[in-house]
Amino acid sequence: MSLKRLVRSIHPRSVRGVAVLALLASVAPVARGQQWVGGSGDKKTNQSSFRAIDEWPDPNEYRNAAGSPGAKYWQQRVDYTIRATLDTVRHALTGSERVTYHNNSPDRLSYVWFQLDQNIDKPGSRADLIAPALPKSIPEAARRFLAPEAFDGGYKLSRVQVVDAKGVKRDARYIINGTVMKVNLGTPLATGQSAEIEIDWENLVPEGGRNGRGAKELVKDGWLYEMAQWFPRASVYDDVNGWQTDQFLGQGEFYLNFGNYDVELTVPRNHIVNATGVLQNATAVLTPVQQQRLVKAWTSDEPVFIVAPDEVMTSASRPAGSAPLTWRFKAENVRDFAWVSSKTYVWDAMGFRYRPNEKHIELHSLYPRDAMPLWDSVSTKAIAQTMKTYGRLAFEYPYPKAVNVHGPVFGMEYPMIAFCGARPGPDGKVTPGLARALISVTIHEVGHNWFPMIVASDERKWTWMDEGINSFLQYYAEQEWDPAYPSQRGPAKNIVGYMKQEAQVPLMTESDVIQTQFGNNGYSKPAAGLVMLREQVLGDSLFDDAFREYSKKWMFKHPQPADFFRSMEDGAGEQLNYFWRGWFYTTYANDQSIGGVETQAGDSLLGPDRAGETYYRLKLENKGGLVLPLQVEVTYDDGSKELVKLPADVWRSNELQFTYGFFTKKTVTQIVLDPKEVLADVDRSNNTWRKPGTPVS
Ligand SMILES: [Zn+2]
Repeated sequence: MSLKRLVRSIHPRSVRGVAVLALLASVAPVARGQQWVGGSGDKKTNQSSFRAIDEWPDPNEYRNAAGSPGAKYWQQRVDYTIRATLDTVRHALTGSERVTYHNNSPDRLSYVWFQLDQNIDKPGSRADLIAPALPKSIPEAARRFLAPEAFDGGYKLSRVQVVDAKGVKRDARYIINGTVMKVNLGTPLATGQSAEIEIDWENLVPEGGRNGRGAKELVKDGWLYEMAQWFPRASVYDDVNGWQTDQFLGQGEFYLNFGNYDVELTVPRNHIVNATGVLQNATAVLTPVQQQRLVKAWTSDEPVFIVAPDEVMTSASRPAGSAPLTWRFKAENVRDFAWVSSKTYVWDAMGFRYRPNEKHIELHSLYPRDAMPLWDSVSTKAIAQTMKTYGRLAFEYPYPKAVNVHGPVFGMEYPMIAFCGARPGPDGKVTPGLARALISVTIHEVGHNWFPMIVASDERKWTWMDEGINSFLQYYAEQEWDPAYPSQRGPAKNIVGYMKQEAQVPLMTESDVIQTQFGNNGYSKPAAGLVMLREQVLGDSLFDDAFREYSKKWMFKHPQPADFFRSMEDGAGEQLNYFWRGWFYTTYANDQSIGGVETQAGDSLLGPDRAGETYYRLKLENKGGLVLPLQVEVTYDDGSKELVKLPADVWRSNELQFTYGFFTKKTVTQIVLDPKEVLADVDRSNNTWRKPGTPVS
């Protein structure tokens, strides 16, 4: 309790109390009036860190003040029927799709925008033109992104047609602008109506490219293909953007509609395929032995080989015959569809259940033999860990399967399927660090099923909403995998280095505007901030309750940043403007400092009752600008320690300075701020006070 508040509690509203307060002015450290960390400091407008956040849009009927979908929340729905063929000689994909666009908006739409992400790989694309000159040296692993092969990339559209209600197809007028395309519907689409659009295309599969998320690779046993952003996808039309037509420049990811997919993929007969969605024709594309092994896998606690390493490319591993095979997958309520295809895959699988006797969730891992040993012992188990931890902290996995695939893409997420790197070196050795790389990336990419595949934020704009929240959950999954796991993202002390740097921008900066330190900005800082909010500001139970509520109410919907902030405040019952403002809207760091310690004999302050006690005044300073709670560790001369936790509210009336006071019968020998390094204090040299003459312990 502070001295001022102590006096108030002894003499409530009394004249004598006022007299004492006046007297206090001469003895207590007094600040120069109200002090705020931001703004001009002139006090002519409210610049408090605790004030409402101006950047938030007003609540409305679509998104309410509690951060929930509003009474008239709507979103579009887009279903796809796709037939595609992979040509492994030309490394080309030809496809034909029928898009059923359902207009649930209150608006009439005369056109539909599409995302043509493959066009990022067209020579002279906007991403190509704005890429800065190459640095003097490039790490080998970054070459295929920074200096991609010149190839004839991008979509070649051979047909764009609108199908009318009678089934008559008419060529549509369309305009392509870089990575987006406007398709005119001819007849405007009223609320509640659907439009059918058909598109035929071809594109070459890159080896690297500016897309960086789908690629082919020649491994020891042959080519493998990871297919992503491989078909024209409808852009999102919503209550915030109208049409979200931000160009795909490579960094900002994807914002997509939910819908159902029916996809047929025709590939060479010796290939194994996996994808978003449930396989519809196992009897046609798998051998009887493989089908039996899958059934066995669903009740196994250990991964079961569906294609064992010594069966790769053997004739017995594929149905007899020579013609290409068509694999059919169906997926419900997904926002994208990705797939992989190769003759090189080893395949293992296992069932996962949240509770005994429930319907299993299929867990699959596919990898070339180059990825062994490692993938066979880690991948599927890491998927299971993700199911457990994310299921508890957010919501239980609602899809029927989750797949992890190894290839050239180090880490990328799609509904039900993830692409992950981490491969033993040519000597086949697996170090603990390499194993952790695979565990971490698997948890992360499979974890993206929750954010943003199901809680479908606008990734093109707000990286922290999926990468940051996902990295936060990844931290807990890693700690549950192994309590000694050296997690990189999550612990506050791991973000200190970044928080010290000048080259930062606020988390609330659009993805494609962030120039440097993208990983620290989009992933690490939000993860560390949410761990801090959970463990140090709100406490686990308040945070978890609010976070689960946010996650569940935005399942299969499109939350915006303010929806998250409002929802967390509403669920936790705490006003957190200061926290969002400091951590998300500014680059202020936390530098709490001890400005000095004063002592006074207790009886000289409050009379004989306090004889034998000492009153300590601890001057605390906020030098970094970030408003956060304080943790004060007090060590006494008998060796005992006490940890005092002060809420961030201590900074309400003065954001730069607060004097904390306490009585004790003992002598204080040392005071340390943030002793456990859980508040990301960037300068610990001013965190300790020692009684003069006390040896450094
Ligand atoms: Zn990610």
